[in-house]
Amino acid sequence: MFVKKIGIDLGTTNTLVYIPQKGVIINEPSVVAVSVEDNKVLAVGNEAREMIGRTPDSIVASKPLKDGVIADYRVTQAMLSYFINKAGGKFRIFRPEILVSVPAGITSTERRAVIEAAIQSGAKMAYIAKQPVLAAIGAGIPINSPVGNMIVDIGGGTTDVAIISLGGIVAWSSVKVAGDKLDRAIADYIKRKHNLAIGDRTAEEIKIQIGSAILNPERGSIKIKGRDLIEGLPKIIEVTNKEVVEAISGELKEIIRAIKSVLQITPPELSADIMDRGMFISGGGALLSNIDDLITKATGVPCYVASEPLLCVAKGAGMVLENLEVYKRSIMSKK
Ligand code: ADP
Ligand code: MG
Repeated sequence: MFVKKIGIDLGTTNTLVYIPQKGVIINEPSVVAVSVEDNKVLAVGNEAREMIGRTPDSIVASKPLKDGVIADYRVTQAMLSYFINKAGGKFRIFRPEILVSVPAGITSTERRAVIEAAIQSGAKMAYIAKQPVLAAIGAGIPINSPVGNMIVDIGGGTTDVAIISLGGIVAWSSVKVAGDKLDRAIADYIKRKHNLAIGDRTAEEIKIQIGSAILNPERGSIKIKGRDLIEGLPKIIEVTNKEVVEAISGELKEIIRAIKSVLQITPPELSADIMDRGMFISGGGALLSNIDDLITKATGVPCYVASEPLLCVAKGAGMVLENLEVYKRSIMSKK
């Protein structure tokens, strides 16, 4: 089968590639391995992540998207090419139409850079659409209707909050507090309280296995390995749900503050719609247990977790590609 349409969710943590009728066919970390000496791109995605930490200092991991903005154009282009080639297959005959999700705060220069990168990578037509809009579409929200809809995407690097009406963003905010910061907060807490150093991956595992946004003893506890900071030796300790809730509460408050700040600048008519319809959360952070309960309680607006929150942006990209006419207000393009 020839791939004619490719939707790409260029996330800060993970990049997903969506092919209409097939679904998500690629899901790899947004990492590029670069050699320090000659600044050459050595590997992308899974392979790049495997290299990091296991290779000499002469190879560094570069995350092309930092804090929801494109930090390095060349590296972004390398990453896009890699994913487009992988999706399109080796013996590509047709040049595909490609849609790439971009952060809501992207500048017009960055916008052109992404479109250019997609064209350079072999796109016949390149489209871009804003991430919150795609997340909303992927969450099944009717974004083209003349009512206010609210989407909160909690990813790895950023939490993006947006009010959407008639296919466009009416009010939004992006804060650099999301999954990664929660992991960091857990690692810091364990260091302070247990004198134990743990890696980022362990911290993430703790969050996923037993974490929750509000106290939930049913989530239990977990035994983890780390290095004792006093003795310097490996040690195993047990961490409880209560400790994780305590560790991440400060970061979660920041996320709540961002949600409230957007509600405060939302035009009154749209606010009323959102009170009625509630807000939807997407992104990996939406999978944190009880995050919907915490947001509902803190804001007074009902909060619902979208189905398959990790896939919303990618699915939204696919849906737009299949219905370009319907979503024309939400996309920008270049041949
Ligand atoms: P991005 O769009 O920035 O690439 P994603 O939407 O892929 O980010 O989300 C990645 C984040 O989601 C990571 O911080 C990861 O730890 C977090 N995450 C994934 N699954 C869960 C889970 N079950 N519980 C809590 N957090 C999760
Ligand atoms: Mg994302």
